[in-house]
Amino acid sequence: MRRTLATLTASATAGVAALALAAAPGAPAVADPPNPAPPKTPTAIGHGGAVSSVDPYASAIGLEVLERGGNAVDAAVATAAALGVTEPYSAGIGGGGYFVHYDAATGEVTTIDGRETAPADMQPDAFIDPSTGRPYRFSPELVTSGVSVGVPGTPATWDEALDRWGSLSLSDALAPAAALAQRGFVVDETFRLQTSENAHRFRTFTSTKELFLGDGLPEVGSTFRNRDLARTYRQLGAKGVDWFYGGRLAAEISATVQEPPLSGDTDLPVPPGSMMPGDLADYEALVQAPTRVGYRGYDVYGMAPSSSGGTTVGESLNILEQYDLSSMTPGQALHHYLESTALAFADRGRYVGDPAYVDVPTEALLDDTFAKERACELDPEAAAAKPVPAGDVTSYDGVCATADPQTADERDTEGVSTTHLTTADRWGNVVAYTLTIEQTGGSGIVVPDRGFILNNELTDFSTVYDPADPNRIQAGKRPRSSMSPTIVLEDGEPVLALGSPGGSTIITTVLQVLLNRLDLGMGLPAAVAAPRASQRNTAAVTAEQAFVDAYGAALAGYGHRFAVAGAPGSSASEIGAVAAIEVGPGGMLTAVAEPRRRGGGSAMVVDPD
Ligand code: GLU
Repeated sequence: MRRTLATLTASATAGVAALALAAAPGAPAVADPPNPAPPKTPTAIGHGGAVSSVDPYASAIGLEVLERGGNAVDAAVATAAALGVTEPYSAGIGGGGYFVHYDAATGEVTTIDGRETAPADMQPDAFIDPSTGRPYRFSPELVTSGVSVGVPGTPATWDEALDRWGSLSLSDALAPAAALAQRGFVVDETFRLQTSENAHRFRTFTSTKELFLGDGLPEVGSTFRNRDLARTYRQLGAKGVDWFYGGRLAAEISATVQEPPLSGDTDLPVPPGSMMPGDLADYEALVQAPTRVGYRGYDVYGMAPSSSGGTTVGESLNILEQYDLSSMTPGQALHHYLESTALAFADRGRYVGDPAYVDVPTEALLDDTFAKERACELDPEAAAAKPVPAGDVTSYDGVCATADPQTADERDTEGVSTTHLTTADRWGNVVAYTLTIEQTGGSGIVVPDRGFILNNELTDFSTVYDPADPNRIQAGKRPRSSMSPTIVLEDGEPVLALGSPGGSTIITTVLQVLLNRLDLGMGLPAAVAAPRASQRNTAAVTAEQAFVDAYGAALAGYGHRFAVAGAPGSSASEIGAVAAIEVGPGGMLTAVAEPRRRGGGSAMVVDPD
């Protein structure tokens, strides 16, 4: 049964109400007054439903949907569509993602794999420059290309989620975001910074330059409108996803990938892709079982491959469960955290890829006995030399033996973009949803007149072809992801849901927040705000400056070395941007977003306490 959101125009939330009015047919385009951002709060406590995302416009739209009787899935899709407007460099219908759903009626956790796929004609040497015989330079050359664009999975994910669990039609779920795109949002520091960091790539394409660099960089405080996207959302709502995957838009997307609209303003080579309309027609969002591990009495559910999120977070938790972190000093506990993820990343690199193409030993990777054996490699007193080798999933008994010296995958070229949102409703349904267009700004290619950027997700394949690599390029395959939307249950009831952007640091960010909350005695706001570090089986630990300041000296005693993330002031100097919801006694909801990272996120509840 689908409800309608027609009454949204009467909303009391000033921003959203105005948005909906602006969407009315025939509304004058130029007379729109400014649309100030709703207030930004990193923590909200209350009942009746909650939304957490990086953006106040998006969270307000999700909240509005909940207030009007929509459920967590309706709110998640509406919030995601709004993020496609205000966070167009991180998410949108040109990308993909992973959706985890807890169904209060059945107690089941189910996931949707909306990952992008490689075109049927993609060749194993697609990332080799034919003019030199060598791989394209990764950035900015390979990432700014048609060859890196995968078939988008986001529209199919929204449609599948609404169809299975939602109460709104796609059209109604997209309406508030269409209105937001029409009316515009106020540019903040983060949007301006991300635009400026991408200006060279964006100038390469007529469509992107026109949309995002129109009269130069968008000024902080100015209003950014995307009427093309407003129209695209309305058409998608009215015509359905077949229009995207089998109709006019499929033809436009594949034409754009094959022949990106070059402006001639830069000398980037922009290798074209091979995507055909048939690749879009063949796309399927996959409904699949989650990963599950038991951890200190909780059940932690995540994304199974093609994402490596669930297996890598899960394996790390299984390793850490061998130790009593809560009785350790912070330095000891963090040493165990860093060493556990190095081990899990070694296994991720060796074993995880798209299960439709490679045999992924998901069960073994999540097996407690396997974790016990992996924990043999964790020296409580000293950091191991990195990279550590992968474990042997074919033969393990949990008994410590000499390590099998297999090589580990140390390459890491995933972006640090993406966005995550979490929703909960009054009926107890919960959604954790991470979506992306890969790196900030995706491929940089806007589909002309459509208002959205195409992803560069195929750069998540290993860039050098190795037949033994589970993440090698294969036609039709999904590149391995790190996205880790996670829902934690206790006695069958949800207690915590979270996720983050950040490329492969997503895995460690989600894990670190889980440990902060479940083991180290922090409340959720503190667990999210705490400084972060990420050990992905590399010689140095990537860490925020604040982490090095707080724990660097203690951890140096174990032999850990640190590389401070990004350049100071750049968007890469932060690790992750968590959006989480905790469900407490009596159904009390604590929605938490970042207090500072990415300019601070936005958490909202329907009935604040
Ligand atoms: N493409 C990455 C992944 O799927 C996410 C990119 C990011 O977070 O920047 O894991």
